[in-house]
Amino acid sequence: MADYLISGGTGYVPEDGLSAQQLFSVGDGLTYNDFLILPGFIDFTSDEVDLTSALTRKITLKTPLISSPMDTVTESAMAIAMARFEQGFITDPVVMSPRHTVGDVFEAKVRHGFSGIPVTETGKMGSKLVGIVTSRDIDFLSEKDHSKPLEEAMTKREELVVAPAGVTLKEANDILQRSKKGKLPIVNNNDELVAIIARTDLKKNRDYPLASKDSRKQLLCGAAIGTREDDKYRLDLLVQAGVDVVVLDSSQGNSVYQINMINYIKQKYLELQVVGGNVVTAAQAKNLIDAGVDALRVGMGCGSICITQEVMACGRPQGTSVYKVAEYARRFGVPVIADGGIQTVGHVVKALSLGASTVMMGSLLAATTEAPGEYFFSDGVRLKKYRGMGSLDAMEKSTSSQKRYFSEGDNVKVAQGVSGSIQDKGSIHKFVPYLIAGIQHGCQDIGAKSLSVLRSMMYSGELKFEKRTMSAQVEGGVHGLHSYEKRLY
Ligand code: IMP
Repeated sequence: MADYLISGGTGYVPEDGLSAQQLFSVGDGLTYNDFLILPGFIDFTSDEVDLTSALTRKITLKTPLISSPMDTVTESAMAIAMARFEQGFITDPVVMSPRHTVGDVFEAKVRHGFSGIPVTETGKMGSKLVGIVTSRDIDFLSEKDHSKPLEEAMTKREELVVAPAGVTLKEANDILQRSKKGKLPIVNNNDELVAIIARTDLKKNRDYPLASKDSRKQLLCGAAIGTREDDKYRLDLLVQAGVDVVVLDSSQGNSVYQINMINYIKQKYLELQVVGGNVVTAAQAKNLIDAGVDALRVGMGCGSICITQEVMACGRPQGTSVYKVAEYARRFGVPVIADGGIQTVGHVVKALSLGASTVMMGSLLAATTEAPGEYFFSDGVRLKKYRGMGSLDAMEKSTSSQKRYFSEGDNVKVAQGVSGSIQDKGSIHKFVPYLIAGIQHGCQDIGAKSLSVLRSMMYSGELKFEKRTMSAQVEGGVHGLHSYEKRLY
């Protein structure tokens, strides 16, 4: 009987799946692909999921996403775009065609809780806008009108106020205010629907509450430094420039050099938040927590460009690293950044469900418009360069990357990363909203209305996991098709 949980009035439901503690109790190191999360109970919409999470002891972010300190990922354009990401344009709204019925709208209203639905020729985004149905169009219709096609019920295109693609959120806000409408469709030159803006979202987002700002209303910004003498000068300049958090950038952070640097910073700049790392074990984490770090960066050898495990024989699969370090660090109130190895939005959800408070990404944000470097073509594909900071390419060009991966006394450079390229991903102003919506959908399926609920579900054992065999992984991917196109957003 002890194995059974009582569920409602219908009888017993057997215990199913593993708690995180059970999942990681065996010695195997697990990657994000080695396990899945079992779905929970949904009683909220995905856009209600609160993604607020701690970056450090004192800094909280509205979304748990950080870009890697790498010379092909983060310079000022990326930092600004990541810090003041503006939500408001909905690029995947519910859309209907003129052949859909009033009944379909009522049904959508029940399912999604709103009723301002754009109508396009094909019922899809990217097709010609022909109207919009709002509550005002259908509220007074009776049951017998439910079979009426929308072309007879909707407000027609001629009567709609729209905005052209490329409009800024601020301009769109002004148009919405003047028009006094609830929804503003955004159309391209061919009058095809590309996005929609909801007044309710704009009200929520006035002043861009997703922007990460410090107490002086400046965008939050972090910077990486090393642990050598001349990094103290860089530190002074960063503090003068208003940096909010410094990251001690090392692939193996459990060192006397890092501990000395943490002590130095904490004495000189009491308020400055310091991220230590990288670490992958509780023992490594202990030394940095004892020295006073405000967050830990976790990951060794899991990065897409990384050959550390191959060359140094040290490292750990990232799922295990995140769980083990987060589980230890939470006792001291120290948040964990899951750094590297994030290939999909599902991996972000998994990192957060293992106790990480934020996720740091290199390859996922590389080759976006905001990433440094010029696009180039190879075999007709538009690409940008992406390289490990421990690649020979980066070490030969950048002194800061030499410091992370090349010790002072070393005569021979030993590469820990490779240099490559990634296909153009467009702007992060489109990509990050996709990531955010994806994380919210993941949390919804799990039944966690916020990231703090997600974490407490995990530590209480309520959140259930299951290991994935190789064939389970094959089953979980697209399979059995002759060809397919994978468009994600
Ligand atoms: P990605 O998101 O999987 O591409 O991993 C990015 C992370 O890899 C960074 O945030 C760093 O922690 C790490 N990294 C950057 N350069 C190197 C390298 O040359 N070797 C190993 N790890 C690296």
